[in-house]
Amino acid sequence: MELKGPLCYVLDFDDIYNYAYQTAIKVKRSEWRPDAIVGIARGGWVHARIQCDLLGVKDLFSVKIDHWGVTATKDGKAKLTCPLTGDVVGKRVLVIDDITDTGESLTMAVDHVKSCGPADVKSAALMHIAGSKFTPDYYGVEVAWAWEIWPWNFYEDLTSLITKIFQGEKVKEMSTMELKKHLREYNNIVLSDDQLSKIKAHMGFLGTIEYPLDKAWRLKE
Ligand code: AMP
Repeated sequence: MELKGPLCYVLDFDDIYNYAYQTAIKVKRSEWRPDAIVGIARGGWVHARIQCDLLGVKDLFSVKIDHWGVTATKDGKAKLTCPLTGDVVGKRVLVIDDITDTGESLTMAVDHVKSCGPADVKSAALMHIAGSKFTPDYYGVEVAWAWEIWPWNFYEDLTSLITKIFQGEKVKEMSTMELKKHLREYNNIVLSDDQLSKIKAHMGFLGTIEYPLDKAWRLKE
């Protein structure tokens, strides 16, 4: 069945930990040891913190790169919006992200860190999309393109996907049953009633839909 929107996969923290563990095993087998880790904000932060534990690294720094705007929509070219936060002079540095899609963010972050005087720089991601312009030195799994819904981005992604469904259907109101059907048709997403009611409460909190909530999902004017 052809989808009306981008194919999405909902990942949980067990998936993330598993991919992080696979990545760490590859680092250890390569016998290269980082002294510092740089997490790319925002997507790479959780992975970066897990790798500090798995690889025994205490120095954790950050850079911020903005590239993708709302879910599955690119926001022009990648931009370095916050430079490196720590001193990497003479250190072996591992730069970490969640996924390499176009690969522009990781390319930009690695180039930036290299310009800050480290001894050596390598890169890692949980997932690598086949065909990306940049292949990280280490990654957990290679996949075909899909929009991966990370557990740390669940409400943000679902809010924007559901808003797009309202726009696509040109309606202002739908029932939970209708929304479930559309999430399958648009994005191949299946969610539990509990997940949906939490998303609904979140969208009410953001002011995207009417709050307090009744049975329908009603867009706020
Ligand atoms: P890119 O510069 O295209 O490699 O991607 C930049 C960032 O956007 C990634 O680190 C992710 O946080 C996010 N992103 C890009 N593509 C995807 C995708 N297919 N699924 C989930 N997040 C993505």
